[in-house]
Amino acid sequence: MPASSFRFDNTYARDLPGFYAPWQPASVPSPSLLFLNRDLALELGLAADELDGPEGAAIFAGNQVPEGAEPLAQAYAGHQFGGFSPQLGDGRALLLGEVTDRLGRRRDLMLKGSGRTPFSRGGDGKAAVGPMLREVLIGEAMHALGIPTTRALAVAGTGELVARERPLPGAVLTRVAASHLRVGTFEFFSARRDTDRVRQLAEYAIARHDPDLAGTPGRYLALFQRVAQRQAALVAQWMNVGFIHGVMNTDNVAISGETIDYGPCAFLEAYDPDAVFSSIDQGGRYAYSNQPPVTRWNLARLAEALLPLIAEQDTEAAVSTAVGQATEVIDAFPQWYAAALLAGQREKLGLRSGDDEADRALAADWLTLLQEHRVDFTLGWRRLADAAGGDEGPLRALFPDPQAPGAWLARWRSRAENEGGTALGWTVRAAGMRRVSPVVIARNHRVEEALSAASDHGDLAPFRRLLSALQRPYDETPDQAGYTEPARAEVTACYRTFCGT
Ligand code: AMP
Ligand code: MG
Repeated sequence: MPASSFRFDNTYARDLPGFYAPWQPASVPSPSLLFLNRDLALELGLAADELDGPEGAAIFAGNQVPEGAEPLAQAYAGHQFGGFSPQLGDGRALLLGEVTDRLGRRRDLMLKGSGRTPFSRGGDGKAAVGPMLREVLIGEAMHALGIPTTRALAVAGTGELVARERPLPGAVLTRVAASHLRVGTFEFFSARRDTDRVRQLAEYAIARHDPDLAGTPGRYLALFQRVAQRQAALVAQWMNVGFIHGVMNTDNVAISGETIDYGPCAFLEAYDPDAVFSSIDQGGRYAYSNQPPVTRWNLARLAEALLPLIAEQDTEAAVSTAVGQATEVIDAFPQWYAAALLAGQREKLGLRSGDDEADRALAADWLTLLQEHRVDFTLGWRRLADAAGGDEGPLRALFPDPQAPGAWLARWRSRAENEGGTALGWTVRAAGMRRVSPVVIARNHRVEEALSAASDHGDLAPFRRLLSALQRPYDETPDQAGYTEPARAEVTACYRTFCGT
């Protein structure tokens, strides 16, 4: 029986009473399995064959709680678009519990769209097919790009309609995460001046994500630094693939360093640092190029929550020392980010170590070139790899004037040829560049097309085809051709993503 193939061990439920509300998923009329991630099921040690049927559908729709699960809604707060909401929490999600995967890693299993909870406020606790399949597509795309992310294990249709701008078919997503600890989880207890619980949470986070820090003096500051470093690395990876999260509220920032909560996210098409696609982000707070500074701002909110722990004593002197220490970390963030970004850009440029300032300028000038000529970000990088392989034609063809990149290309070639040590040959360099610059990303128009076929017509074929293309983002085979091209500029200019809540 598949229900028993989950071997739950629920530390959150066990160790953190008072941090959640035990709760049961709502029953739905007619569960059906729309998607099962067999690779991930295998990774989790689950019996994929047994889950791929009616019993799996019942589990993933929330109708059958698997043995050993202890469903609960987690409490959290969050800064949303800069303003603090002291009480958010799982309004339409439930943590089922934790399992240990085949590599020994503890992973959360969470239902999303499983009905109202004590944290639902005005919401219905439900989710629609489109946004849940979107989370599958983007999450799997990020995973295939080597970017830390939560992943979708399954999506079940519920057989009911959910009331949105128009009625939409409902679904429940099963999400797998290193944990669901967020900056906002710390803020929840810090806002209530409950320092004991902030400490309990920090100890839990350390045990789970940074066990080498357990019991060490100064561990709370060290935890903060680790979170900041993970975020620096993560956001640098986002920037190097042109990913725009869309809603970087502190409740959507995971302590683990995984990308979490795929709502109104999108990938860049023509390179534009100001790009913002989210319909609710009218001020552009979470625009592409704002992501690094916003991350730093979010980290400062975490520092505030951790401050009483970092200070250890409630004296003015101790607190002021702690503020200084936390500020040092926050001030180091831009350098960590810049180093991670440059390391990624160097790989994409086919370069190895060199003069940081010169290489930063080389990368910045490349991006300016893409921006000035409205060149597609993904294809620009990919065709640069082709140029390294000996054919500049496809790259030049991306520019309205094929002469436009000439001077920059000459500069890049001479920089590459002047690498110290054992210089890479151009063929090797091109192959390396193709391994870090994808040819297939989740193009907005392709995502929308797949989701509307699924949601409006119950046709999952386009979703499955797109998913399979996204799982091989670096492969430029003939069957990938339909997924490599950008939308027309007019389409992208009008493109808006919605939260789907
Ligand atoms: P999100 O924008 O998905 O990060 O969600 C922000 C907050 O709104 C979280 O507390 C969610 O649980 C809650 N929320 C989002 N959608 C719903 C819904 N349909 N019903 C209840 N709560 C929701
Ligand atoms: Mg959220």
